[in-house]
Amino acid sequence: MSTPNKMTATCGNCGEPRDIDVWNGINIGEHPELKEQVKDGSLFVWECPHCGERNLAPYQALYHDPAEHLMIWHIPENTVTEEQIASVTAQLKDLEGYVLRRVDDIGSLIEKVNLFDAGLDDVVLEMCKYVTKMELTGASREVSDPAPVEGSSPPLAPEKTEAIRQAPFKFYKLDGPDNDLIFSYPLDGEMRGVKIGFQVYGDCQGIVSRNPVMTPGPGFARIDAAWLESFFG
Ligand SMILES: [Zn+2]
Repeated sequence: MSTPNKMTATCGNCGEPRDIDVWNGINIGEHPELKEQVKDGSLFVWECPHCGERNLAPYQALYHDPAEHLMIWHIPENTVTEEQIASVTAQLKDLEGYVLRRVDDIGSLIEKVNLFDAGLDDVVLEMCKYVTKMELTGASREVSDPAPVEGSSPPLAPEKTEAIRQAPFKFYKLDGPDNDLIFSYPLDGEMRGVKIGFQVYGDCQGIVSRNPVMTPGPGFARIDAAWLESFFG
C-alpha cells in the first residue's frame, strides 16, 4: 500500500511550520477515498492548528487510476526534472493502452480527473473549448448567457474578446438529460459558466479524428489550450 510522505510546510498567515502529509503517489486502486479529495482539491489543503488558516500545498503528485488505465502527473514548476519524468516514463513502457498526462496546476489536475470520470476525451474537450471561445468572441453574443442563443447583440469590445481568448476554460461537468457540457472560466474577477450542447462535442470528435496530427505524443503529454492552439497557428 502506498502511504503519504511528510513535508514541512509554513503557514502563509502566521508563519508556523507544520509537518503535513503529501501524497506524491495517489493510487486510486489502493486508496479509492482519495479520489474525492483530489476532485474537491482538499488533498492539497492543510489547516494551520495555530491560526486556522487553510493553506494550499501544491506538491507534485502522480495520480494513478489502475482500473481506468489513467495516470495524471501534477508537476508544479521546478519540482520534478525532465530526467526524472523520462525515467518514470521508461519504467511504464509496458503499460500498454494507458493514458498518460502531465499538468502544471491543481485546477488542471481536477479538470482531468473530472473529464475522464465523465468518459470524455481531453483532446476533444480542448477542441470544444477552442470552438466555444470562437463562438463567444465571434458570434457577438452576451458572454454571460448560460446557453448559446441565436440572434445578434452588439459586438464585444476588443479587450473583452482578448480576455475571453486568454481565459483558462475548465470542463466543470455534464449537465441535464442531454449531457450538455458546462465550462467555467474567470472573467473580470468572477467565475463565469458557459453551457454547450453535446453535439458540439460530437462535431469536435469528428474534427479530431480527421486530423491525426492531433494525437498526443508518447509519455506524459501536456494536453491544454496552448497545445491545441499550436495546430491553428
Ligand atoms: Zn497559521
